[in-house]
Amino acid sequence: MKEIKSQVTIQNVWGARKRISSLIGRTPAVESFILSEKLGRPVYLKLETVHDTGAFKVRGAANKILSLSEEERKLGVATYSTGNHGMAVAYVAKKLGIQATVCISNRVPKAKVDSLKRLGAAIEFCGESQDEAGERCLMLENDHGLTVIEPFDDPEVIAGQGTIGLELLEDIPHLKDVVVPLSGGGLLSGIGMAVKTNDPSIRVTGVSMVESAVMHESLRAGRPVKMPEKDTLADSLLGGIGLDNRYTFGMVQKYMDRGVLIPEEEIAHSMAFMMDHHRMIMEGAAATGIAALLGNHIEYKDGAVAVIITGHNVDLSVVQHVLNGYHPE
Ligand SMILES: *Cc1c(COP(=O)(O)O)cnc(C)c1O
Repeated sequence: MKEIKSQVTIQNVWGARKRISSLIGRTPAVESFILSEKLGRPVYLKLETVHDTGAFKVRGAANKILSLSEEERKLGVATYSTGNHGMAVAYVAKKLGIQATVCISNRVPKAKVDSLKRLGAAIEFCGESQDEAGERCLMLENDHGLTVIEPFDDPEVIAGQGTIGLELLEDIPHLKDVVVPLSGGGLLSGIGMAVKTNDPSIRVTGVSMVESAVMHESLRAGRPVKMPEKDTLADSLLGGIGLDNRYTFGMVQKYMDRGVLIPEEEIAHSMAFMMDHHRMIMEGAAATGIAALLGNHIEYKDGAVAVIITGHNVDLSVVQHVLNGYHPE
């Protein structure tokens, strides 16, 4: 076990907000009248899909890369990712004129690979899992001095994702519940810390798919565990949390009130539901949050709910498949 490092603080999140503001725009939180009606309380969709890369991960990537020294920037950055984080790193690096190398597993959907190439990143395919891609990335760091931009277990990345929490507090009256899709936990750690530091009565729910829910299994075991990756509509939630996890395991333990696991059919239904009622495309990972609401997993009734619509990067063939199986309620 590595030492437990000191936690990310609210000051880090304010610092991140200032640092990334010239690169990353604020996102809207819009009320969903159909979901508000269903739940009997205001439901807001925090639209992280409006970023250029179509997912929230640009916040953490921008905060981390902008924290690097001139020397580190010259040597370039590297990352391994299920796609959205890699895209975020490539995007931010391109904007800042830094070379990015992305190591990804063969499971990553084609649409994401194409987008990475368009952003000018050097792509390295490695194996069937995030772990193999991670090992390759460490080699680049050791042998060539590239800085690996971690997808979630990094204080700057967590603080960057936490800026969402500040925006929720500012934009949503009577916020009481925040529903956060959960994988490595950078997003939940940042948002959870930011909202609860300001108002400890706000509840945070972490949502994952039933299969390969590594953070949930780790919390149950009381320590980070490893699990095989299974195919899921929520492919952006795949990946381990690292057996030597330093930050997010402890922070999710501290800031998450409740964990919810969503079966594949409900993820598919929620994706189609949002297309049907909002004409909004979101990827499976983001739809897990909607599924938690539609399945009545958020049992409280007071105040407003915010659900983080984390990304919309999904192959159209998947969208088509999901719509074909849709049965409107
Ligand atoms: C990365 C990601 C998540 C989960 O974020 P973590 O910080 O790994 O918990 C959720 N949704 C989408 C679309 C993502 O890309």
